[in-house]
Order: sequence, then C-alpha cells, then structure tokens
Amino acid sequence: MIITNEHVIHLAKELGFELVGFSKVELLKDEIEKLKLWLQKGFNAKMDYMNKNIDKRFDVKNILPNAKSVISLGMNYYFPDEYKKKENSGKVSRYAWGKDYHLVIWEKLELLESQLKNIDAQFESKSYVDTGPIMDKIWAVKSGLGWQGKHSNIISRKIGSWFFIANIITNVEFNYNTIENDFCGTCIKCIEACPTNAIVEPYVVDSNKCISYLTIENKENIENQFKGKFDNWIFGCDICQDVCPWNNKFSFQSQIDDFKPINKELILDEVLNMNEEIFKNKFETSPIKRAKLKGLKRNAEFILIKE
Ligand code: SF4
Ligand code: SF4
Repeated sequence: MIITNEHVIHLAKELGFELVGFSKVELLKDEIEKLKLWLQKGFNAKMDYMNKNIDKRFDVKNILPNAKSVISLGMNYYFPDEYKKKENSGKVSRYAWGKDYHLVIWEKLELLESQLKNIDAQFESKSYVDTGPIMDKIWAVKSGLGWQGKHSNIISRKIGSWFFIANIITNVEFNYNTIENDFCGTCIKCIEACPTNAIVEPYVVDSNKCISYLTIENKENIENQFKGKFDNWIFGCDICQDVCPWNNKFSFQSQIDDFKPINKELILDEVLNMNEEIFKNKFETSPIKRAKLKGLKRNAEFILIKE
C-alpha cells in the first residue's frame, strides 16, 4: 500500500505529536550560506560539531540516498507551572523539567517508522530529534510547522514555541505543505528582554552570550561580564520565549506525562554538595545530565557568588 499524508498524520497524532508537516527534499543552498556566515562570525562558540557534516546538512541525500521528503513533527512540552523563586535555587529551562525528550521521542519515532514500514515494506527512513547532521529548524519551517522567530526558535500559530522538533527523512513522496508567513511583525520583545544581548540582530543569536549555551554546552568558566545577568538560571534560559506574545496566547498543557515537571528548580547548596553518584541517579533520564556535574556546580557558584 502507498503511504499517504493521512497515514502519517493519523499515526503521529496518536503518538502525541501535535504538529505534522511535509516538505520536498531540496538542496539547502541559501540556508548553508547563512550557516557559514554565522560560523565565520564565531557565533557557534565552542560548538565545533556545527562545523562538521556540512555536506549532509546541505543535502539530506548524503544521509539517505533515496530521500524524497522530510516529515517534520512537533511535540508540545509546555506545563504551566511557575517557579517558586526561592533565594537559594536555580531555574531550569522548561524543556528540561521532565524526562529527556530524546528518550521519549526516539521511542515514538521508532514506533512510527515501524508502523509506516508495515504499510509499505519499501519505506526507508532516517529520523532525528535535535541531534545529528540535519538542519532541523529549517526543515520544520519548510514543512510548514511555523516560522523562525527573531529569537531563532520555531513558532507555531497553533501552539507557540514550546515544542520539540523531530524530522524523518524518507524515500516516500507526499503532498507538501506551504511555508508559513513570519508573524513576528514589528515585535522585538525577545530582543529587548534578553539579559545578555545575545540576540545580536533579529533572527541571529550569538551563542557566546546566550545563557542556554553558557550553562549547558559551555565547558569553561563563565565570564564576569555576565555577573548579575543570569536571573538565577542554572540550566538553560527561557526568557526570550517567556516574553513572546505567541506563547502567551497559544500555549497549552502538554499531553505527554513524561514531560511533567520533576526538576523545575534546583537547590543551589544541594548542587554544590552533590557527588557523581547522586548526580547520576538524580539526572540519569533528565536532559540536565548534559551539563555534567562539573558544569552544574560551576553554574550554581556563578549565580550564588554575586561579585
Ligand atoms: S535563551 Fe536567554 S540568553 Fe539566550 S537568547 Fe534567549 S533570552 Fe537571551
Ligand atoms: S517575542 Fe516577538 S519578535 Fe520575538 S519571536 Fe516572539 S513574536 Fe517574534
């Protein structure tokens, strides 16, 4: 049987993906030029992996030779809980409150791919969630999931920007979505709210200044120029998405229990006294493990010591 858009939409929605879109495989010429410019300016900071596999990012046929389409999926992770703003606590970015989204979504992608293979044994696919040499946000835009906001995250008119993106490259052809308009308009709330001026121009984030990068991927000390600007963020930062009118209007609670808040705030003293074993047990299935204990302790010290 031939796999249709309706098959994919039906199965993906059953698995909890709110957004499903389809785009035709093409070379990402303009997008790679933009990426190269961003890299030349050093805006990737120490994320050297962004420099690698440019050929695969440019042409997904270098990943799956028979690729015809990209199926883009979005999964809402929003829970409306508030921070309690305790003096001695650090805030965790919303996406990391619950179970690691890689674990949750990989499992669902595997299931979806095997269900599609059951419909058509010729179905070939390669899927990604956040990791891997694929321009995930670009394909999400091409598949009509939303537009790239001035803070660089993808915004959907249906659910705002609190969602994870997954992409499946496949050899199947579909009816393709049209690209969504950019509805940022004259708004610059995210640019104005960013405490470290990391959004250096609309749609361009300098990772060297972004609290998300500084608290997670960064392996070095955090420079003193950022003292007093972290607003107690210990893992990631949500400020630019928190102020976005699209989130204020359209966010609704995730249907995925795995994303329920477990680690919304971390007690700074507990972090500073943590050993590797406690860290491993506490964050084994949490995205927070990416920062490693050393990074988390550095972040706790950085926000505790004000001068
Ligand atoms: S995540 Fe925080 S630091 Fe990074 S661009 Fe957004 S507001 Fe600025
Ligand atoms: S805050 Fe305004 S400018 Fe920034 S992403 Fe949202 S709508 Fe766009």
